[in-house]
Amino acid sequence: MENKNNPGAHNLRPWRKIQRRVSRQITVGNVLVGGDAPIAVQSMTNTLTSDAKATIEQIREMEAAGVDIVRCSCPDEDSTLALKEIVREVKAPVVADIHFHYKRGIEAAEAGAACLRINPGNIGSEDRVREVIKAAKDHGCAMRIGVNAGSLEQELLEKYGEPCPEAMVESALAHAKILEDNDFFNFKISVKASDVFLAVAAYRRLAEACDYPLHLGITEAGGLRMGTIKSSIGLGDLLWSGIGDTIRVSLSADPVEEVRVGFDILKALGLRNRGVTIISCPTCARRRYDVIKTVEELELRLAHITTPMEVSVIGCVVNGPGEAMMTDIGITGGGNNTHQIYIKGQADHRLKDGDIVSHLVELVEKRAAEIEAEKAK
Ligand code: SF4
Repeated sequence: MENKNNPGAHNLRPWRKIQRRVSRQITVGNVLVGGDAPIAVQSMTNTLTSDAKATIEQIREMEAAGVDIVRCSCPDEDSTLALKEIVREVKAPVVADIHFHYKRGIEAAEAGAACLRINPGNIGSEDRVREVIKAAKDHGCAMRIGVNAGSLEQELLEKYGEPCPEAMVESALAHAKILEDNDFFNFKISVKASDVFLAVAAYRRLAEACDYPLHLGITEAGGLRMGTIKSSIGLGDLLWSGIGDTIRVSLSADPVEEVRVGFDILKALGLRNRGVTIISCPTCARRRYDVIKTVEELELRLAHITTPMEVSVIGCVVNGPGEAMMTDIGITGGGNNTHQIYIKGQADHRLKDGDIVSHLVELVEKRAAEIEAEKAK
């Protein structure tokens, strides 16, 4: 076994590397999307955007979870009016979600939105399209073309008979052409579907057809558990193939969960690292302490740590020492209520009859501070 004083070293193994598709880079406010920029995690507020106070509060909760970009629906003028205050009060760039109403797009750009999610083919005459694009250009606003299998243009449904990857990509490229024809290139594209197979096939096709940055999502994926599973499969497949520059996990749940799941998908693929990743065993008759309860409590009490770290929480010596060698902090259950604690991959001390959770929290906080201090040097 190699020296594990550098527990993060295993993350550098060549078989863990994902070769990302080369996309052009755009800016969404102060966030770079595409190229070699980190894959951005997005979520969407579910408050009334016209209720600026509630929306700001929700965005702040998302920011605490690490969100990079936030989207707000702007179905009416009250929403675009409130957007100005929202944009002023939050740190994350705000995407205004616009459907059909070109005036909302102009108002949102004027209000300081960093991006408009709008399909130029759906907003009417060429003049209207030009007006929206001009507003976006004037205010440094990006755009996202958001094709959805559930709302494809009628002529494409007639041509292809049903929503299919070909129809979705044709729709996306037609919207893109309108922007290109107006000398607008600061945009990303999504081709979402609730069906994982359809979404993945559409994204793969689109990734080959253009070099615009892609916003990934499995739309209407379901509740917290099934939505997480579907998103992990669909987004995981694409990201593992190097496709995707920004993601949104769509859940019928608290949007903060979308942010957490988004980061966890990226963490599982080594594409982003944020906060503590807990490696824990499922437990069995050999466990020497209550691993499940320990992990549940740790997840809550370590949520404030943003420093990337791995912590192994293992019930017995069967897998404990091996896992601990690859983590920053580790615990392996032992007899007589005496457990082995590992720091930076090495056995460090034993904890007898102690409060496991509080002890680990203390160690993690200390290690996080050390890592941050090392980074600052
Ligand atoms: Fe059971 Fe030990 Fe494996 Fe955990 S590490 S599942 S306690 S054998």
